[in-house]
Amino acid sequence: MATTEATELLDDARGVLPEVVALRREMHRHPELGLELPRTQQTIVAALDGLGLEVRTGSSVSSVVADLEGGRSGRDGRTVLLRADMDALPMPEDTGLDFASEVDGAMHACGHDSHVAMLIGAARVLASRRDALPGRVRFMFQPGEEGFHGARSMIEEGVLERPNVDGVFALHVSPNLPSGSVSTRPGPALASADILEIVVTGQGGHASTPYLANDPMPVAAEIVQALQVFATRRINTFDPIVITITKIRAGTTNNVIPEQVKMLGTLRAVSESSRKIALAGIKRLTTGIAAAHEMRAEFAVTPGYPPTINDKDFAGFVARVAVDLLGERSYAEMPAPIMGAEDFSYVLRERPGAMAFLGVCPPGQQPMRAHSCHSNRMTIDEDALAAGVALHCAIALEYLS
Ligand SMILES: [Zn+2]
Ligand SMILES: [Zn+2]
Repeated sequence: MATTEATELLDDARGVLPEVVALRREMHRHPELGLELPRTQQTIVAALDGLGLEVRTGSSVSSVVADLEGGRSGRDGRTVLLRADMDALPMPEDTGLDFASEVDGAMHACGHDSHVAMLIGAARVLASRRDALPGRVRFMFQPGEEGFHGARSMIEEGVLERPNVDGVFALHVSPNLPSGSVSTRPGPALASADILEIVVTGQGGHASTPYLANDPMPVAAEIVQALQVFATRRINTFDPIVITITKIRAGTTNNVIPEQVKMLGTLRAVSESSRKIALAGIKRLTTGIAAAHEMRAEFAVTPGYPPTINDKDFAGFVARVAVDLLGERSYAEMPAPIMGAEDFSYVLRERPGAMAFLGVCPPGQQPMRAHSCHSNRMTIDEDALAAGVALHCAIALEYLS
């Protein structure tokens, strides 16, 4: 991308910034959870009105898909998909902002309000340049990213078809990166996230006579320890996993040995192969340790999102576009994957593409000390959203040309 083109695009993005910020604040005030987001859906449809896009709403979830047909598409023009997630988190907000959440127990603490606003800003800018657009841009607004598999529902509804989508891109804000900076990486960018449930069943009894019972407590503790040993000793250091046991429930009082211990936890992996090895290992260890103590353990997995794997070439393309647009100093490759998870992973399983991060560290704060996504005090530098709008546009324009 030539320097003049980059400057023009950034100017256009700054031109729509006031609308982008206003829209973001409107959504921030009215967060919605899960797969049914009627108010957010309506806001998006209204904001796209008059841009000349073909807009469709989802039938199984409250999604919005909007297509921009370029003036130079022709029959062979490619289609690029840009995605924004729309949902908030079930948590209270403690930012003290004058546009803080007005919904009890819900907060846009993952920045999805700004994702939607940036994508609408990009739709505005790209629509104003449609005559020069040699292909199609599909805008994907998806509910249910925070654990509800919204992207998977949209794939089932055909978001990657009619016409076939060739390349895909998503941008996620992070207060822990310098404002206006971009980062991504080829290969694994985020982890899978599976829910683990372990139930150890022994024999209850009197706390003073454990030999007459079979106490599941120390066995559960042994399993927790063994899982940590397993994670570091049996898994390739360069294809890492995280196992965290987050909840242990058992017992009622000081003089009773309970019959059962129930544990809950999470498994994170950055490849399908280490995910598979880890799940088999966790099952082997839990059932094996329990059996060694003459008791029973049951292990159940609720599969979560798969690992988010960026296409190598597409990630390189995003890096080049970001450098051309924002300058060398505004791009840094992610040193390692993030152990959080994303359901854009489903989209990246189907089509080549990449997910990138946009720094939104609030002014006057240190990125590593800023309140992160999912914090009740998470805030962003709204000025950085102009860089995000411009990056969406630049990815689309460069990919299609
Ligand atoms: Zn989140
Ligand atoms: Zn998120």
